[in-house]
Amino acid sequence: MSEALTIALTKGRILRETLPLLARAGIEPLEDIDQSRKLVFDTSRAGVQLVIIRGTDVPTYVRHGAADMGVVGKDVLLEHGAEGLYEPLDLGIARCRLMTAGPVGWRGSGGRIRVATKFVNIARRHFAQRGEHADVIKLYGAMELAPIMNLADLIVDIVDTGNTLRANGMEPLDEIAAISSRLIVNKASMRSRHGAVQRIVDDLADIVRHD
Ligand code: AMP
Repeated sequence: MSEALTIALTKGRILRETLPLLARAGIEPLEDIDQSRKLVFDTSRAGVQLVIIRGTDVPTYVRHGAADMGVVGKDVLLEHGAEGLYEPLDLGIARCRLMTAGPVGWRGSGGRIRVATKFVNIARRHFAQRGEHADVIKLYGAMELAPIMNLADLIVDIVDTGNTLRANGMEPLDEIAAISSRLIVNKASMRSRHGAVQRIVDDLADIVRHD
C-alpha cells in the first residue's frame, strides 16, 4: 500500500469543530483523540491519517509535504503566509474576527501607538496601510493585559463574543479581517495524489455547502 495521506489538524477549538465535518465525510479517528496522548491517528477511511498539532505548525507541515493537507485558521495564514499552499476551501468553522481593541474611551495617544499582539505581521501591515506609526510588541498570550499594565495602548487580537475584551475594560475598534478555518493542501500533493486529495476537498465542500 502507498503511504498514508496525512491531514494536519489544529488542536483546540478548531479541532472540536473539524472532527464532526470529517466524520460526515467518513473520516473518523479509530481512537478517541481526547483520551489519548498520541499525535497520529489512523482513520476509518483507509489510507488517511490525522496528526494533531498547534495551528501555527500546520502550514509548516503542509508546506514541507510532511502532511498533504491541513485545517488551520485564516489568522495563522495571514500572519505566517500561505506560500507553497493551496487554500481550496473555507470550512466556515471557528468563525471570529481579527480586530484592534483598546481601553473603553481611548481616543489616541497623539504620537506613536504601542500595539501588543501575537499577530505582529498583520498588525504592522494594518497600521502601515493606515499611515499610522505603530510600535508593535510581540506577546504570546493574554494580549488584553497589556493596556492594563501600560505595556501598550492597543492590542490586535481575535474577538468572538467580545466577553474577554469587556471583562478587561476594553472595546473592539477596527475589524482587520473576518476569520474562519481553511482547508489547505500541499501543492505537490495536489498533483501527485490528486484523486485522494480532490475526493476529500469535494466531500468537505459538499458538507460545508449544505450546512
Ligand atoms: P471572546 O471573549 O468570545 O471574544 O473570545 C476571545 C478569545 O477567545 C480570544 O482571545 C481568542 O484567543 C479566543 N478565540 C475566540 N474565537 C477563536 C477562534 N475562532 N479561533 C481561535 N481563538 C479564538
